Amino acid sequence: MKLLEERIRRDGIIREGDVLKVDSFLNHQMDIDLFQEMGKEFYRLFGEENVTKILTIESSGIGIACVAAEYFHCPVLFAKKSKTKNIAGDVYRTKVMSFTHGREYDVIVSRDFLKAEDRVLLIDDFLANGAALLGLKDLVDQSGATPVGAGIAVEKAFQPGGKRLRDAGMRVESLAKVAALHDDGTVDFC
Ligand code: 5GP
Repeated sequence: MKLLEERIRRDGIIREGDVLKVDSFLNHQMDIDLFQEMGKEFYRLFGEENVTKILTIESSGIGIACVAAEYFHCPVLFAKKSKTKNIAGDVYRTKVMSFTHGREYDVIVSRDFLKAEDRVLLIDDFLANGAALLGLKDLVDQSGATPVGAGIAVEKAFQPGGKRLRDAGMRVESLAKVAALHDDGTVDFC
């Protein structure tokens, strides 16, 4: 998606450890006009899939997922990072290693909100090593629902997440695919 690539070129900042900062428009301050174009594009890609629910993970996926849901007309569910190890058995639970914080989280969703008949679109801001998305897929698989695919804003294609997800049978559609981040601040797209 040209619009997102241009915005990354203009406002993205490259940080140590292959981190692309997009705080000014994507995951701290949010450009809702851009999100609407992204939502439309996700709908163009997945609109035929009869999506009944969008699943994302807190916190940076939530804004993108909510705007996308305006096109799909379905609820948004976000997986919560759980601090308590053991709570009642009314949740699906999995473990996710955080790319940005370098630690493992338990993430949960209530069993009330994911049902076997659901057709679930996963949405997130970034795809790096794939832990977040594989965790979301695991939650969907536990519920017996159908994961119809993953809609990603920015895939860092030089990291293994995309391959891991596609190898696991997921349809992955990324609006901007980064081939390389350079020390001089430039970004190559696939
Ligand atoms: P993964 O689980 O695929 O390794 O990483 C995905 C998660 O890490 C995303 O939800 C995102 O919040 C965060 N993340 C990974 N790489 C980047 C990056 O380059 N920039 C930012 N801002 N977040 C990232």
